[in-house]
Amino acid sequence: MAKVPTPVNEPVLAYAPGSPERAALKAALEAAAGERPEIPIVIGGDAIESGRTVDVVMPHAHGHVLATAHEASGEHVTRAIEVAMEARRSWSRTPFEDRAAIFLRAAELLTTTWRQRINAACMLGQSKTCFQSEIDAVCELADFWRFNVAFAERIYAEQPISPRGQWNRVDHRPLEGFVLAVTPFNFLSIAANLPTAPILMGNVALWKPSSTSLLGCWEMMRLLKEAGLPDGVLSLLPGAGPEQGAAALASEHLAGVHFTGSTGTFKALWRGISDGLDRYRTFPRLVGETGGKDFIVAHESADPQALVTAITRGAFEYQGQKCSAASRIYVPQAMWARVRDGVAADLETIRFGDVRDFTCFGGAVIDERAYERIAGYVKLGRDTAKVVAGGACDDAEGYFVHPTVIEVDDPKHRLMQEEIFGPVATVYPYSQPFADVLALADATSPYALTGAIFANDREAVREAEDALRDAAGNFYVNDKPTGAVVGQQPFGGARQSGTNDKAGMHLNLLRWVSPRSIKENLAPPHDYRYSFLDEA
Ligand code: NAD
Repeated sequence: MAKVPTPVNEPVLAYAPGSPERAALKAALEAAAGERPEIPIVIGGDAIESGRTVDVVMPHAHGHVLATAHEASGEHVTRAIEVAMEARRSWSRTPFEDRAAIFLRAAELLTTTWRQRINAACMLGQSKTCFQSEIDAVCELADFWRFNVAFAERIYAEQPISPRGQWNRVDHRPLEGFVLAVTPFNFLSIAANLPTAPILMGNVALWKPSSTSLLGCWEMMRLLKEAGLPDGVLSLLPGAGPEQGAAALASEHLAGVHFTGSTGTFKALWRGISDGLDRYRTFPRLVGETGGKDFIVAHESADPQALVTAITRGAFEYQGQKCSAASRIYVPQAMWARVRDGVAADLETIRFGDVRDFTCFGGAVIDERAYERIAGYVKLGRDTAKVVAGGACDDAEGYFVHPTVIEVDDPKHRLMQEEIFGPVATVYPYSQPFADVLALADATSPYALTGAIFANDREAVREAEDALRDAAGNFYVNDKPTGAVVGQQPFGGARQSGTNDKAGMHLNLLRWVSPRSIKENLAPPHDYRYSFLDEA
């Protein structure tokens, strides 16, 4: 087998005033804001307009329609499955070098000619700043595509021993059927990786994107076509989750689900699959990365200013709409006034607004439903705890929730337990012994995605790492709990945060192969009798 290129993380461009990338991005933003394309359903390379449409708007200027998307019905899903099963005949037999080359080329396109087009779609459609879009839609996705190729090479190289007279092989087959990729709104890198990781391993996939990331997903489909992905291997099916999910789960050919989104949706899919177990030809692989209630625990030896910066960035970047966002924070009572005032001072200087204005640190939350939910939590904070910074909500032009810090005196307050998925950080100033606080952090929420310890005392770091071993799939020491990088911090959590199959690592790709062992006898025996059968 040919050796694949050694992957390197894509450098993040700075977009500083006067830089060529900033000028190129500004031009791309202006163009994308005025284009208003029709986003079709894509099945077998055909662009289908169903006539059942939804408007794609800018969250920070919700009166501005960016695109009109055509929604797929259950029949479209059934058709996409037939097309995928047909495409599977050749794709599952396509040599690894050819599959790999398509994704290496896709990464190259993404980081060159497509870079600012994709950034513009992500910024306008999902209300990300240029930096948040760059690290997600460009760098992380390019990393997924390049590193996955190298991880796949490792998997294919994994072969058994062969004693003399035999040759043993493992054929890392794709799954027998199709993979359903159901993707969230908040990361375009995840949205594009969920269908393409199984495809790299020789599978065919159906892509059900979130209705609030359609512009970016549509651009990704176009990029993948230019990179050479054959028609039919991937279908794009915008539309309502429950209707599409039901149609996909009804097929005997469902071989896997690659999901990222809320815990509730993943459970609904899992239940639907359990109900259909007698229908499927094979046990479907279920991979789901779901919600989080991510913590920062500060020890009395913590550097208070490092903690302030970790809270400001970790809780409020991308409006707190990261599964990894810092959301419950435990601070020693004696340190709290210093930290509170530090975060409040940061928030005084931070602007949230239209992301085309590069002086904004953040944009709007994704849609009206999210706005109402998050505003409800802010109100809960006002009514039952103390809002110490922020708290303003305004949906007149865009869905804006100003970064909000809430102080609670009950460590089991709902605000310390439930995923809010918005720019709201809840702080519990503690005066109990450190060990008790670690036990609280471990037991307060059902999730276990990310978490951080801030301490200069090494023993405290060791104690926290041990006590919180099951409380987070991604654990940080003196760093914010967001911003995992492919190849550096493989990502995923357990408990109610998902199946922890670690995107950005070979472990994820292993879920998309079904190995076949092949034994070849180089000297087959010619006599059934074993020597023990002889009479002496
Ligand atoms: P969501 O669960 O609302 O939607 C996810 C996807 O599921 C969407 O495409 C939606 O249309 C679809 N869907 C909804 N109901 C369905 C059904 N019955 N059948 C099939 N599909 C259905 O999640 P979201 O709001 O897009 O994303 C936010 C959530 O995602 C948060 O909970 C966040 O923590 C989580 N998330 C987790 C990770 C991780 O790696 N753990 C990463 C990003 C986001």
